[in-house]
Amino acid sequence: MPTYKAPVSDTVFLLNDVFEYARYANAPGFSEAPIDVVEAVLTEGAKFVEEVVQPLNRVGDLEGCTRHEDGSVTTPKGFKEAYKALVEGGWVGLAGDPKYRGQGLPHFLAALFSEYEISSNLAFAMYPGLTNGAVAAMMAHASDALKDRYLPKMTTGEWTGTMNLTEPHCGTDLGLIKTKAVPQPDGSYAITGQKIFISAGEHDLADNIIHLVLARIEGAPAGVKGISLFVVPKFLPDAEGKPGERNGVVCGSLEHKMGIHGNATAVLNYDGAKGWLVGEEHRGLPAMFVMMNGARLGVAIQGLAISEVAYQNAAAYAKERRQGRSLKGPAEPDKPADLLLVHPDVRRMLLEIRAFNEAARALLVSVALAQEEALASPDPKVRQAADDRLGLMTPVIKGVFTDTGFANAVKAQQVFGGHGYIAEWGMEQFVRDARIAMIYEGANGVQALDLVGRKLPKDGGRAIMGFFGEVGQFLAASKEEAALAPYLAGVQTALGHLQQATMWLSKNGLADPNNAGAASTDYMHLFGLTALGYMWARIVKAVLARQAKGESNPTLDAKLTLARFFGERMLPETGAHLARLSAGAATLMALPAEVF
Ligand SMILES: Cc1cc2nc3c(=O)[nH]c(=O)nc-3n(C[C@H](O)[C@H](O)[C@H](O)COP(=O)(O)OP(=O)(O)OC[C@H]3O[C@@H](n4cnc5c(N)ncnc54)[C@H](O)[C@@H]3O)c2cc1C
Repeated sequence: MPTYKAPVSDTVFLLNDVFEYARYANAPGFSEAPIDVVEAVLTEGAKFVEEVVQPLNRVGDLEGCTRHEDGSVTTPKGFKEAYKALVEGGWVGLAGDPKYRGQGLPHFLAALFSEYEISSNLAFAMYPGLTNGAVAAMMAHASDALKDRYLPKMTTGEWTGTMNLTEPHCGTDLGLIKTKAVPQPDGSYAITGQKIFISAGEHDLADNIIHLVLARIEGAPAGVKGISLFVVPKFLPDAEGKPGERNGVVCGSLEHKMGIHGNATAVLNYDGAKGWLVGEEHRGLPAMFVMMNGARLGVAIQGLAISEVAYQNAAAYAKERRQGRSLKGPAEPDKPADLLLVHPDVRRMLLEIRAFNEAARALLVSVALAQEEALASPDPKVRQAADDRLGLMTPVIKGVFTDTGFANAVKAQQVFGGHGYIAEWGMEQFVRDARIAMIYEGANGVQALDLVGRKLPKDGGRAIMGFFGEVGQFLAASKEEAALAPYLAGVQTALGHLQQATMWLSKNGLADPNNAGAASTDYMHLFGLTALGYMWARIVKAVLARQAKGESNPTLDAKLTLARFFGERMLPETGAHLARLSAGAATLMALPAEVF
């Protein structure tokens, strides 16, 4: 059975030492959470998920969710009790608005806590994750009346939320949505249609489920400009706000799927269900994007979180399992064989995962802090810069963290050999669970297109120029630090590759859009590696500063080796990405359809 220990001290190190959390001390959004509060919340949250949520990961996978004849759904044994404890502990509403019974702590803290929750049990963590996304969309776009009716229960997690975009014929291309909304005399709409693949779409964890549904008002223009957003509760709240009459939405079936068995992936049939418009008519997609952007960050965290828990278990196994002898002769001659850990190739797998995880966590912290500033800073310039960074980084971390998270789950499984393939050790579950993160919330190919097609050119390239400026300035300012210099060369090269790739795209992508499409996935990974290399440089700077004060411990000191490993063996991939993307689209597009 896999185990998990939340990396609280690493998160706190990143906040304190790398991102100098003290700088934010009195800033709006942060002032409620000085670092000792942050650390205490993360420590308590870690304890909760390790003790209550993680033990349900395996049972959730084995048992899955069950749909009954009446359309109701039962979650795996123990989920209901654990979810109740999660709600009662205030964990769902950690960053919720106190006006709606939230805890009022910063959003970045909830994001950092969610890494631990997801590592413990991805399928379980999706229930509160989707609820928080629905709350964010309603906070931004719903009328006060709708907020008052739904948010006090959704913020705490007593009622859960869902996002309903996908239909049988329409996944990536939301312009094809058919679900229709007919205006009613009382100001509500009758919603009719079928939504598929709806995560947490039906379950027994909460008294009510509040669906956010994209639908087309009768007579609306075709395409994405004719889509509106509706809130559709499973039970219509009565005059006292309690779940009342059953609404016309039922779970027609549950999907049988590769992983995340503990999360109910539902087909939802809407048959004249009562819904209320959120935001303006035909402006549903921008409103839903609040939820989708939050969910993209949440899914990025899923990639890191699975990678972390898979690493922890693979490292523990490599320190116990004995096979073969060290290439340099027996390391422990008195034992029948040496530990797996003596073999360079086993170490390669472990270090590739760990060198990703620690830098990815740093990048997550930087993005989460940017999100907080984008929401709360009173300074419009700070808000704009943070918003630029958040927008630019969202597709990068969604795509890179989840592609790498899955690859890392496979690597961790490989460390177990055949024992990773059988179910007993739990490693194959991580592989199966991690796979979905590359697909939902916009498949990774679509994230890459969003990056090159929308985020790069937006506002004349302001966000990407801001990133180049920041990394360039860091490198220039750090050059003179002799101890740091050896860690910077690789980042400088990677930055150069990214700049060349960006120039190549601006020239060749405009000339032929297929060039942009063909380059997009390589560009996204080139960007991700560069950003992770930059994170390692910043981590090294912080480690050296601590060491200069006489501090030293194995975990701290190991970061220098991990940074070197990343620079020597992972960052050079940027060159291959640049070479590939510069080849353009010609060969990709050359073959006629009949030869496929
Ligand atoms: C377990 C699970 C849970 C889910 N949860 C939810 C949920 O809660 N709510 C919800 O609404 N949906 C949910 N989904 C749906 C999910 O978001 C979609 O499956 C996903 O967006 C892809 O859509 P699709 O499956 O129709 O694939 P398609 O859109 O048919 O795409 C197929 C492939 O083609 C590529 N592609 C498509 N269009 C383009 C393009 N224009 N350019 C380049 N490449 C393209 C895609 O990248 C993908 O690789 C879930 C799906 C699953 C499997």
